[in-house]
Amino acid sequence: MSVKQVELIASPKEPHFVGDGFRVHNFIPSGFRLDMQRMTPFIMLDYASKHYFEPSPQPKGVGVHPHRGFETVTIAYKGKVAHHDSGGGGGVISEGDVQWMTAASGVLHKEYHEENFSKTGGDFQMVQLWVNLPSKDKMSTPKYQALRNASINRYTLENNGGEIEVIAGKYNNIIGAASTFTPIHLYNAKLKSGAIASFSFPAHYNTALLVIEGSITVNNKEKVPTDHFVLMGNDGEDFNIQAIENAIVLILSGEPINEPIAAHGPFVMNTRQELMEAFDDFNKGKFGYLED
Ligand code: MN
Repeated sequence: MSVKQVELIASPKEPHFVGDGFRVHNFIPSGFRLDMQRMTPFIMLDYASKHYFEPSPQPKGVGVHPHRGFETVTIAYKGKVAHHDSGGGGGVISEGDVQWMTAASGVLHKEYHEENFSKTGGDFQMVQLWVNLPSKDKMSTPKYQALRNASINRYTLENNGGEIEVIAGKYNNIIGAASTFTPIHLYNAKLKSGAIASFSFPAHYNTALLVIEGSITVNNKEKVPTDHFVLMGNDGEDFNIQAIENAIVLILSGEPINEPIAAHGPFVMNTRQELMEAFDDFNKGKFGYLED
């Protein structure tokens, strides 16, 4: 086995607002060498770094919008998000929870700070990841996986070093909570100061890290501070991280989907023709109806 090396460490760019509730740094696809094809199946990553929101009588967020052709994965670290969709579904994503929404053939939804969180205000920190679907699954039926923190299995590191929450895929003998369409590993590594965790993924899997809390070194070499993103190379399988101080690190690795990508706004398809059909279907109301 050979070592998977750090290819790039990206610092967070200036944040922008999605609606008025999500203050995000975009890492995929706008970053240098982090376009959709480079990180497939992870085609978008917006990171709402920890930010204090003042109390607000009106929940902040983003109003009704469609998605088609992929999955949205929302990982809550601080604060709470409420969501509603055109299929009548809805719920609250609380600290530690993950919502895995398969938009597939199409949903309309809205995402807001949860009402009580909004009234009291507080720290808000979240990741939204878009996972592409292979062509054969893009028009499948939409579904949700609401993964409560307690339902996410953990691997306990030796010497009280912390734990690896396995959101999807597998870590050692622990199976992830989410079902996925293509092979994906997604973990929250929660390491105590000084603890080391080792990982092994096939060389060709696209692999990256996002440091949510604290700071780490990768392969006993590169130091990575809070809110920084690490693109790992496709040259080897094995790497490790060590916490310089108590740290939380989101780890993503997936088998590439080697298909063309035609993306515009909330639609990610394979061809321009399919994109135009998505807009057409949306304009004709085929995504259903949801009140703002
Ligand atoms: Mn959305």
